[in-house]
Amino acid sequence: MTAPEDLQWLARAVELSRLCPPSKTAFSVGAVLVGADGEVLSEGYSREIDAHNHAEEAALAKLPADDPRLRTATIYSSLEPCGQRASRPRTCAQLIIAAGIPRVVVAWREPDLFVTACQGTALLISAGVTIVELPELAEAARAVNAHLLG
Ligand SMILES: [Zn+2]
Repeated sequence: MTAPEDLQWLARAVELSRLCPPSKTAFSVGAVLVGADGEVLSEGYSREIDAHNHAEEAALAKLPADDPRLRTATIYSSLEPCGQRASRPRTCAQLIIAAGIPRVVVAWREPDLFVTACQGTALLISAGVTIVELPELAEAARAVNAHLLG
């Protein structure tokens, strides 16, 4: 199920991905956390806080882990949340599940570039999280990473 606002918030996530410090070894991703009442709770982008930050992680780090608004929030990410990563013990899929966020909207599925077959979507679905893909914005999300994709 999608709402007209979904496209707008996801476009904001793609816009944030353009702020990422450049990297040759990691994607540039943006994320926006929006509460049930349509209020922006936080935003983040890859490498915003340190060199290994992922966008969803940066956005979540700006809120208390027990913020009750997370339980009804939607997180918009320009790329599917990671299900495996080398740089941190917890993946973004795990962070989203732990925060109790019930809904994830993404523009682009992770290509098999840094990991083989990203498991993020499968992990989220198995935890009962609703995941919505808006392919309308996939090209825009991909374009920010064109230098990685050759
Ligand atoms: Zn991640």
